[in-house]
Amino acid sequence: MIVPFKATDHVLVVGLGRSGVAAARFLLGLGLKVSVSEGGQAGAAASSAVTWLLERGVHCELDGHSRELFTSVDAIVVSPGVPLDIPALAAARQAGVPIIGELALAPAYLQTPVIAITGTNGKSTVTTLVGELLRANGLQVFVGGNLGVPLCEYLAGPQDADWVVLELSSFQLDSAGAFRPRIGVLLNISPDHLDRYPDYAAYAASKWRIFAHQEGDDYAVINVVDREIKELLERRPLRARTVGFNLGGKPGPDSALADGAWDGGSAAGEPIRLSLSSRGGGQENYELAATALAVEPNRQNAMAAILAARLAGCPPQAIRQGLAAFQPLPHRLALVATIAGVDFYDDSKATNIGAVISALQGMRQPVVLIAGGLDKGGDYRLLLPVLREKVKALVLIGSAREKMAAALASAVLTETAADLPAAVQTAFAQAAPGEAVLLSPACASFDMFSGYAQRGEVFRRAVADLRTVRGGSGPLLRGCPVMAAILL
Ligand code: ADP
Repeated sequence: MIVPFKATDHVLVVGLGRSGVAAARFLLGLGLKVSVSEGGQAGAAASSAVTWLLERGVHCELDGHSRELFTSVDAIVVSPGVPLDIPALAAARQAGVPIIGELALAPAYLQTPVIAITGTNGKSTVTTLVGELLRANGLQVFVGGNLGVPLCEYLAGPQDADWVVLELSSFQLDSAGAFRPRIGVLLNISPDHLDRYPDYAAYAASKWRIFAHQEGDDYAVINVVDREIKELLERRPLRARTVGFNLGGKPGPDSALADGAWDGGSAAGEPIRLSLSSRGGGQENYELAATALAVEPNRQNAMAAILAARLAGCPPQAIRQGLAAFQPLPHRLALVATIAGVDFYDDSKATNIGAVISALQGMRQPVVLIAGGLDKGGDYRLLLPVLREKVKALVLIGSAREKMAAALASAVLTETAADLPAAVQTAFAQAAPGEAVLLSPACASFDMFSGYAQRGEVFRRAVADLRTVRGGSGPLLRGCPVMAAILL
């Protein structure tokens, strides 16, 4: 254990993004000697932080990582964006220097109980929703982690919240030390980030770390129909009280679940029903039909969030208020326009195959799917069953388009486009009234955009441009790509 630090420790912070800067500030606040090292990709925002750090006597190494610095410090705090296998960190490891992420600071320095949320998909939605549900009960909540504000910013402040609600990525869990959430939530596991993990098993194991240091009085909230989670639960039983969600119609608490569970009858359109033995065992109903969470995958996100809030002591009435008021986050299956009877959905945040599968499973109309971008090492053939069922045509963009076409073109009419606006035009030409055009890329965005948000904005603008061309009145020629190209 290197935390809590000794007063004489020299700590190196690696990475000068928002999280690294916050970590350096926090460590300076502890009165420690601090250095920082940045590989050169932190961007413009880092420069004002560097000025601030230099003024406080922090040694700043800004254009690469030196072994000398990495091997001479007492401990290293690494930002989540920095791969743990870069040569300088390998050298530090060999020299016996402890390497931790900001989550590992929590056991010694965080005074507020934590609800932590991870999973391949749905993290931001559930983290935000849990925060809203607790606030609806009048509580003070810090919401952050992988989503927005780093934990270190809270650590450095007065720590005056009733709960800390954290979104956690697998990268953060890889360096989490003895981090122990009072309530840990694991939403789902499907292949992602295979460009950074040796294999899928290693990625899944990293998600399971959220529960590694929990004790018998903590809670583990898990999705009990997720195949990977079920297997992990069998192989690596949990110490925490385990609560399942998403039983999909099975009655009663699952035998593997000590505390309670969602019971059956939670099919689409019905209220979801909860029974928790630790909260008296009675059944509670939560009606989602009139909320923004009515449709999958948000139904299961709602279940996870309600459980977490309930276990944190929120009464049902406050939870119902929070559910009713919740607004979905942008770029997650957002309906942006309906033009000539075609619905356009922006699901730009779907950066892996699992997210696209769940988006398509939730669609009730035939879909023209726009996908592609920067490949993350996944197997696109996993899309084939749902593609055959729901997708009438596929339009591919980005550097992954050839790899995707090779995996998918045998199953569905496939076209490629030079950029996203061109893909929107091609997709529109393929879609008939009553059908949908869905941007759900299954890839990262960085080959063409600054991030998923910019990709979503470009999509919105391209869709708006279709409306301009239509001029709001006359019939729009569709179904013929060549005519559409001339028109548009
Ligand atoms: P994350 O923070 O894990 O990326 P988000 O809430 O931002 O999760 O959603 C990212 C993408 O995953 C969106 O495209 C969304 O439609 C999809 N998604 C959201 N919740 C789930 C879920 N429970 N299962 C599968 N996909 C989901």
